[in-house]
Amino acid sequence: MISAPKIASFQPPRRVLMGPGPSDVPQRILDAMARPTIGHLDPRFVDLMEEIKTMLRYAFQTENALTFPLSAPGSAGMEMCFVNLVEPGDKVIVCVNGVFGGRMLENVKRSGGVPLVVEDAWGAPVDTAKVEAAFAAHPDAKLLAFVHAETSTGAQSDAAELSRIAQRRGALTIMDCVTSLGGTPVRIDAWGIDAAYSGSQKCLSCTPGLSPVTFSEKAIARIKTRKTPVQSWFLDLNLVLGYWQSAGKRTYHHTAPVNPMYGLHEALVMLCEEGLEQAWQRHARNHEKLKAGLEALGLKFVVAEPYRLPQLNAVSIPEGVDDAAVRSRLLNEFNLEIGAGLGALAGKVWRIGLMGYASRAENVEFCVNALSKLLPARRSAAA
Ligand SMILES: *Cc1c(COP(=O)(O)O)cnc(C)c1O
Repeated sequence: MISAPKIASFQPPRRVLMGPGPSDVPQRILDAMARPTIGHLDPRFVDLMEEIKTMLRYAFQTENALTFPLSAPGSAGMEMCFVNLVEPGDKVIVCVNGVFGGRMLENVKRSGGVPLVVEDAWGAPVDTAKVEAAFAAHPDAKLLAFVHAETSTGAQSDAAELSRIAQRRGALTIMDCVTSLGGTPVRIDAWGIDAAYSGSQKCLSCTPGLSPVTFSEKAIARIKTRKTPVQSWFLDLNLVLGYWQSAGKRTYHHTAPVNPMYGLHEALVMLCEEGLEQAWQRHARNHEKLKAGLEALGLKFVVAEPYRLPQLNAVSIPEGVDDAAVRSRLLNEFNLEIGAGLGALAGKVWRIGLMGYASRAENVEFCVNALSKLLPARRSAAA
């Protein structure tokens, strides 16, 4: 017998989460998650799922029937799009301007697709002219994949224009809107996006672990006429369709994470109460306030003004400032989490998130105040 370890209940500290996600989860959502667990095929749970799907269609601005929360994090939503829509040998134009574009590329390769990479500098948006050129060179490309809001750099790309280019070429689109959904405009139907995935823990301010996804009729038609089976059993939409689309005669596919779904439901109720446009405006307003505060401290943004994401503010770490020391003092002395740089930007930038519930004026003031105490005093230009 291995004896039982003596470990007490876990008591997390109360932090202010201003990184790249998870963002602050309001108590109201945590309370919803603590309600009694019911069966995942209970008629009341089926009702809850239908409400989640309805509210997700609002968040995504789509009438797509196939819109649901995948029982797994955003990365699984990404993988679901690729394993279902890419068949071995398919040419896929994939845009890489940060970490998450790089992961899309990896998914194309692992799905057996032939990747055609459109590369842009980290911090820059996807260059639509390069995407035009890639389609001109490869008119048989079947898919265009891009990240709308690149969380590793804070840059937003022109999803409407990228989708227009793909549509003119008869290609389908896969869009990562993990960080944009609920924070900046996402318009699946108006833009004509065929497959998109998001995450519960960014601008929706729910706990991590669920990935809202949506697929157009064209995407479903492509999946139904595949010549090869989807290599992943869990992510095969042909199987998930049976579970999600037939309210009433639902069959067992996997056990849905019941209580996290209560949380997502509550997060979406809060989004509906506030209104999508109001939420976008709040994110824009608090970004302006943060920008003023950070610039007053002498910090410089990584991304050029027109492409900045209000919910993810990447600033260069000033010369001579110890990245890890500042972040650990913020955490230990202020209970404030901000994000470190990722990939090519590791050690060079901080990523300050104003996502969902974290996007509040008091958080902006708290963060700017804390940084002002830890950064060396700025020599005034007038002095
Ligand atoms: C966070 C994020 C993901 C991955 O989501 P997880 O829930 O961490 O798996 C994918 N793409 C982007 C742009 C993200 O910001």
